[in-house]
Amino acid sequence: MKSHKFSIVFLSSALLFLIACSTYKYKATDKVYKNNAKSFAKIIAATPPKNQQIDSLFNEQYFVGTTNMGIRKANFVMIHHTAQDSLGQTLRTFTIPRTGTSSHYVVSRDGKVVQMVNDYLRAQHAGAGKWGQVTDMNSCSIGIEMDNNGTTDVWTDAQITSLCALLKTLKKKYSIPTANFIGHADFAPGRKNDPKNFPWKTLAQQGYGLWYDDVLDSVPENFDPMVGLKVIGYNLQRPNYAIEAFKIHYIQSDITPILTDFDKRVLYNLYKKNL
Ligand SMILES: [Zn+2]
Repeated sequence: MKSHKFSIVFLSSALLFLIACSTYKYKATDKVYKNNAKSFAKIIAATPPKNQQIDSLFNEQYFVGTTNMGIRKANFVMIHHTAQDSLGQTLRTFTIPRTGTSSHYVVSRDGKVVQMVNDYLRAQHAGAGKWGQVTDMNSCSIGIEMDNNGTTDVWTDAQITSLCALLKTLKKKYSIPTANFIGHADFAPGRKNDPKNFPWKTLAQQGYGLWYDDVLDSVPENFDPMVGLKVIGYNLQRPNYAIEAFKIHYIQSDITPILTDFDKRVLYNLYKKNL
């Protein structure tokens, strides 16, 4: 009953969206999506699974299907800014095969949320990078693109309200840990800087991502900021970029790769939260 109700609501909002667009431009690419999903369904349904032979074990590998299983689900949420000028432009970018990029959701400036990939499928939003020991973030995360040009655009209340509604649903449904709501820049320091000037504090107050306390302890003399960054999750392969990414997320007003006393206090506070 509940899912029926949801589908009516979803359908009517989809219809509204279609009417708003006057002509629906994505019929052909929707078909591509459906065909891709069908081919994935075939791979999942095959028994025994195809192309899963263990190297050099030819006569000792068997298949017996278990009765107990589920679909893999995301454990992270990664937030981006689109660096585009409109929702239409973003949808176009994500429906052109040559761009190779997509996200599960796009949140527009007016609060409209467009889903482009089933939560259980892999969107192509994170690319190369590392957070903690996770390197294939696309395989374990939900990607959310916030439509924003990344320079002059402000974050609208409608956009952040819709994002929080989406995050609430995802966090509950997939049991995503509070610390696992991160930005693209956190995962790919030096390569990505999004989302920029993002209201992470507002999100953290609602349980999505960590934020530092208002009152900060002084930093012990033996505290190594690099260890702090590492414990939070940053990749230290290029330390200056790790500092920059940390500052894009938590400092924002200054993102030079130098840690001031205040930055170090923030870092120490977050380090302790991550222990
Ligand atoms: Zn991004």
